[in-house]
Amino acid sequence: MGENEDDKHVLDHGLGSTIRKGKTFETIDPRTEEVLARVAEGDKEDVDLAVKAARHAFDNGPWPRLPGVERRRILLKFADLIDENVEELAAIDTLDAGNLYAFAKGQYIHGAASAIRFYAGAADKIHGETLKMARELQGYTLIEPVGVAGLITPWNFPSTMFALKVGPALAAGCTVVVKPAEQTPLSALYFAHLAKKAGVPDGVINVVTGYGATAGAAISSHMDIDMISFTGSTVTGHRIMQAAATSNLKSVCLELGGKSPFIIFKDVDLEKIVPLALLGCLYNQGQICVAGSRVFVQEEIYDEFLVKLEEQLKKWVVGDPFDSNVHQGPQVDKKQYDKVLSYIELGKKQGATLFSGGKAFSDRKGYYIEPTIFTDVKDDMAIATDEIFGPVMSVMKFKTVEEVIKRANCTKYGLAAGVMTNDLNIANTVSRSIKAGTIWINCYFAFDDDLPVGGYKMSGFGKDMGMDALQKYLKTKSVATPIYNSPWL
Ligand code: NAD
Repeated sequence: MGENEDDKHVLDHGLGSTIRKGKTFETIDPRTEEVLARVAEGDKEDVDLAVKAARHAFDNGPWPRLPGVERRRILLKFADLIDENVEELAAIDTLDAGNLYAFAKGQYIHGAASAIRFYAGAADKIHGETLKMARELQGYTLIEPVGVAGLITPWNFPSTMFALKVGPALAAGCTVVVKPAEQTPLSALYFAHLAKKAGVPDGVINVVTGYGATAGAAISSHMDIDMISFTGSTVTGHRIMQAAATSNLKSVCLELGGKSPFIIFKDVDLEKIVPLALLGCLYNQGQICVAGSRVFVQEEIYDEFLVKLEEQLKKWVVGDPFDSNVHQGPQVDKKQYDKVLSYIELGKKQGATLFSGGKAFSDRKGYYIEPTIFTDVKDDMAIATDEIFGPVMSVMKFKTVEEVIKRANCTKYGLAAGVMTNDLNIANTVSRSIKAGTIWINCYFAFDDDLPVGGYKMSGFGKDMGMDALQKYLKTKSVATPIYNSPWL
């Protein structure tokens, strides 16, 4: 990208200055370890320009002033264009992030379009309330867009992340400065190009590609950005909150890491649950914030679970994400690959039993790691406490409902949990006792546009998805006036 005029147009949308400056960085194809593209490296100066454009579009431009129905029309067109360009977008994320192409083409890109459509439908239904006031006053609330939103996203599902942030922000009437992860900047540029084609006015979406420590930090400390919606690691979440606190006190919503428990009770049908447990942990190479990476199995079915897990693992194919028979592609980059391998070594060193996997694939290029299962994992081992963000499962045995609730909650995170049982009492007790933002009972990754997703504890606060996400980009103005003659005048 970046060589011919068409590509330049894509990269230029909303922020030409990064190109004019000429500084670039490389994004790598994780299948081949080769350079995929050189992308404009935005820094503080570029963020300033992007914020100026977004501020101007917010303060003077049509977007926040359009009737909601008109924003809806444009966003619906944007969603249609995403669907029409599904192959390009799926290919971009497969090349850039290593997402499985068949899944990206079949579901995930359409899911991004669906999210935009969901918020398009909300754009003309944003309204305040008439208030019953005690004195002879009439009062009402106006629901207004927050202003310029800074949207900072991670690399695991680049298109989903773009849609889940930009969709509600635009529906609310905000203008945005988006910083996609430096590992996977390409699809955000393509999205911006499609948004322009759909009729989103200039200055409303401004994509700044660049590094977190420069472009990202400039967004979180910017005095003219009104709110930040961030998805990424808990460590970066701390930094963003600090920067917001010491700059203009912008509001912050954080979608952070997780170490989710996947709890299997003895009454389940293991034929169905074992494949789900495997997918729940290894999906997208384990690079999903809600990965069920701590699998708790009730002791009566523990041995049988392992036998069936071994059978399933034999069918699990690791390889090129463009191959539709493949279940697991490469980790996103060298840094992530090394991090996962070092956790595997730590698991062995700390005394967990390596049940399967445990190494990288030495017969090929690319960041491919074997699906790795540890048993005899103790709750305080690093592989059980830390978010690895790779294909590593810790299997643990438990006896009672009370015990597993306590152990499942024994984590600083609180993003999601899976509860597998046919016993309604157990399902209700456990789902109400686990401190996590999403509980899936007898299912996993059951995402829906209408279902808010976000964390408890150090997994963050503020939701993506659902109507809750729209609220992040809105603020309430209260208006009061005397009903009859004003005693104030
Ligand atoms: P990361 O925190 O390293 O980076 C995320 C984004 O923040 C990137 O765009 C990066 O450039 C930017 N960034 C980095 N340092 C910054 C700084 N000082 N100031 C501002 N921005 C900065 O995370 P990652 O490795 O890209 O993503 C993986 C993490 O994301 C995992 O912890 C995962 O659990 C989390 N995640 C959470 C959810 C959720 O919904 N809760 C969803 C997906 C991923």
